[in-house]
Amino acid sequence: MNLLVTGGAGFIGSNFVRYMLEKYPHYKVVNYDLLTYAGNLENLKDVENHPNYRFVKGDINNRQLVDYVVKTYEIDVIVNFAAESHVDRSITDPSIFVKTNVLGTQVLLDVAKENKIKKYVQISTDEVYGTLGETGYFTEETPLAPNSPYSASKAGGDLLVRAYHETYGLHVNITRCSNNYGPYHFPEKLIPLMITNALEGKELPIYGDGKNIRDWLHVKDHCAAIDLVIHKGKSGEVYNIGGHNERTNNEIVHLIVEKLGVSKELITYVADRPGHDRRYAIDPTKIMNELGWKPQYTFETGIVETIQWYIENQEWWKNIKSGEYMTYYEKQYGDR
Ligand code: NAD
Repeated sequence: MNLLVTGGAGFIGSNFVRYMLEKYPHYKVVNYDLLTYAGNLENLKDVENHPNYRFVKGDINNRQLVDYVVKTYEIDVIVNFAAESHVDRSITDPSIFVKTNVLGTQVLLDVAKENKIKKYVQISTDEVYGTLGETGYFTEETPLAPNSPYSASKAGGDLLVRAYHETYGLHVNITRCSNNYGPYHFPEKLIPLMITNALEGKELPIYGDGKNIRDWLHVKDHCAAIDLVIHKGKSGEVYNIGGHNERTNNEIVHLIVEKLGVSKELITYVADRPGHDRRYAIDPTKIMNELGWKPQYTFETGIVETIQWYIENQEWWKNIKSGEYMTYYEKQYGDR
């Protein structure tokens, strides 16, 4: 199989490229990525010389280049991870989110259609469903009700994917996963932000009252689910992915403080994110029953392994926590 992985230099995409090359060394994997602030080829240093791995720098909005890559590498399947992915940045500047997550998706779908690609897989998020109260879960039938410019742009992309299936008969799947954690996670997101700040003895800024609930899944369990969707997913179907690991932000930060043995005094509460969704929780029954997916990690083992990874890979995140990132951080949290 010849796979085109768009956004393969980001957090989940790079874990997925590594996962596929390890599991299917005979597959050809082309990583197509614009290398925005979130894309980092250091994430794939260990596989860069793999004989079946290629990297192409490009924008998913560049139709000509995407088409050239699909033809040159005789691509069978496109898996689209490329996106602007950070909610806080979408609140500051929604326009790039629409350009990449909506218009970029449409370009990929068009190229997939024109080249009669065997399957197009859109990597989406549970955030398209909006927010939950204290009970209940998101199923594939939950109506889309995005609340942030980020989730609205992801929902827009998802609807185009659906339309290309219904209108043109393109073979597609959409996956909607809960929050991921694990190695190579960019340190603007909650878990790596807290681990790296704690390792640097910096304050640990929690939004609002810290009682917002997220449903956490180890990135390798997400990769295994996508692998199943590529090979066994029924055309046109949506699959929710989650491991029933609901935690409040307070619980996450206290766990990190405890595991790293740093002072609780580092925890500070900062002004809440506007429109902050209260709770996300996925019902993964469909992917478990239809495709036989089951998460391998418990949150307890996964978080310990992840903390250890950040302790052992300080050069990786220290390189990131400089330059453009610092400007963003100061705008978001002041001089904490
Ligand atoms: P990320 O921000 O770490 O990576 C995104 C990648 O896309 C980067 O490598 C970036 O360079 C690339 N990219 C951005 N714009 C591009 C463009 N115009 N053309 C080509 N490449 C471009 O994001 P992530 O956390 O790895 O998320 C990957 C996907 O998974 C996203 O679509 C996101 O919505 C979805 N998702 C993420 C999570 C999560 O918890 N991180 C959960 C569910 C779904």
